[in-house]
Amino acid sequence: MIHSRLTQERYQRREDAAAKRYKRHVDAAAKLVIIAVIVLTGVGLWKTSDKRGQKLLAVVRHCTAVMGTDCSIAATVEPGRRAYAEKFLRRAEAALRNAEALLSTWLDDSELGRFNAAAADRHVPLPAESLHVLHTAHDAFMQTNGAFDVTCRPIIELWRTAPRRGAVPTRAELDRARTESNWDLIRLTDSGAVKLADTVRVDLGGIAKGYAIEQAADVLRRAELAGGLVEVGGDIVCFGRPPSGESWKVDIKDPFDAGRLARLRLPNGGAVCTSGNYARFSQLAGRRYSHIIDPRTGQPADVTHSATVVAADAVTADIWATALSVLGPAGFDLMPHGVEAMTVTGTKDDPKIHCTPGFRRLMKKPTMTTISTPRRYEEE
Ligand code: AMP
Ligand code: MG
Repeated sequence: MIHSRLTQERYQRREDAAAKRYKRHVDAAAKLVIIAVIVLTGVGLWKTSDKRGQKLLAVVRHCTAVMGTDCSIAATVEPGRRAYAEKFLRRAEAALRNAEALLSTWLDDSELGRFNAAAADRHVPLPAESLHVLHTAHDAFMQTNGAFDVTCRPIIELWRTAPRRGAVPTRAELDRARTESNWDLIRLTDSGAVKLADTVRVDLGGIAKGYAIEQAADVLRRAELAGGLVEVGGDIVCFGRPPSGESWKVDIKDPFDAGRLARLRLPNGGAVCTSGNYARFSQLAGRRYSHIIDPRTGQPADVTHSATVVAADAVTADIWATALSVLGPAGFDLMPHGVEAMTVTGTKDDPKIHCTPGFRRLMKKPTMTTISTPRRYEEE
């Protein structure tokens, strides 16, 4: 009896410790995640099944920093397979770092850094992955009517350095930056790319994160875990079985406040990416300028405060989140089938929240007034 009580107490302490550890993880993640939070609460690791009799899974989680932001990689597994899952979490992290090395255009020694520094008319050999991302970026440029344009790097640089220079770029500077770098000045070949002017520079910041988390999620998918999640700076891919319940739950941050704007339920997983002018911006004379540029005008895209996109893969979601930041809800019509989105425009006191009907269906209890904006080809 005494023995059994002692065992129970020890057991209780272990439970408490596990619950505390678990809470610490959730707290850490809540701090890390800028835009979205996967809700992992309610997972009692000591139970074997949930209310519906479905076998409960253990959550194995790894938090780190990558691509200049916070990152969280998690897997759901049968409790006996934790060590196995941890091995794949480390491999998924390696995939993220590999993607960063391939695509970062701010590291001079990355593949794309070398392309940016290369002289005109020389063939720059590129690894298949980087080349694939460049092709995808070009397709996106066409699909978004030029709103997503990785060649507008000189314009991005002008805005990024504006606070240091103490003045916003002039019209003449922006026009020159546009002629210095654009898709007409790049030839993609089977094994690399050729710049037609020394000044051509690309910036893959609007696609690299999506590519990286998709690669990392692929590592987890191939490991045949029960489920998995990769999140970098609020962009998320999740698949398979969530830690509890039937759906992955993803919170979307309110661009005007600290809280959440909406919660999504993703029964089949998927990718959720958010772009916003509230997280990263330049500041000059008390005014904020978005880090996202409208390539057609050279001006920061400041009308849309945040754009969230749900798609089957993170590359698509990442691209369209940036593109919708430029286009606003008018861009919904350009999105491919199966891609759902929400944009926030207006002001803190009078926000305008537009979403596609498919996005609205994913929202758990839509708490705020949303304007449902069907695409031309769909009925609500
Ligand atoms: P995201 O936060 O995913 O929307 O990515 C924004 C990043 O993409 C910026 O920091 C720039 O590096 C780059 N970027 C800015 N404007 C554009 C644009 N119109 N098209 C493609 N990339 C852009
Ligand atoms: Mg993005």
